[in-house]
Amino acid sequence: MWSNLVNKDCVFCRIVDGVIPAVKIYETQDILAFFDTLPAAKGHCLVIPKGHYESIDFVPDNIISSIFILAKKIVRLQKKIFNINDVNLLQNNGREAGQTVFHMHLHIIPRFKNDNVNLSWKENAYENDNEILTIANKMKEGL
Ligand code: AMP
Ligand code: ZN
Repeated sequence: MWSNLVNKDCVFCRIVDGVIPAVKIYETQDILAFFDTLPAAKGHCLVIPKGHYESIDFVPDNIISSIFILAKKIVRLQKKIFNINDVNLLQNNGREAGQTVFHMHLHIIPRFKNDNVNLSWKENAYENDNEILTIANKMKEGL
């Protein structure tokens, strides 16, 4: 049950509780979708678990599944409503990753021609083949 997982200092928990207003578009017992009030582009939505989980790795699998199933519906709707083909999903975990609200959320951002949304990074490189394979092997062992 998500209700014992509320953080009183968290803006998204306050939205879930109805203490702070939000433009909500869909909710179930476990998840909520609402509009970002400082959108990258019009129609920018956030989907969150109702329980307070700081980042994706703490969210139960069934709730992550629900969040992405809802995201797919929202993407389809955004394409239809705005007559566009392009949408970004963005999910930041931790300060270094650009997270500013520490309650897990998935951004769904409709993309328009020349919209000035910038999600780019400079290309990086591995030291050598050994480095990429060492990291890959550690990942393989954990999965
Ligand atoms: P992130 O940088 O991934 O943590 O993104 C947090 C997002 O939450 C930003 O895009 C903010 O505009 C958005 N946000 C913060 N407070 C609110 C709020 N009260 N209602 C809706 N969106 C919010
Ligand atoms: Zn919270």
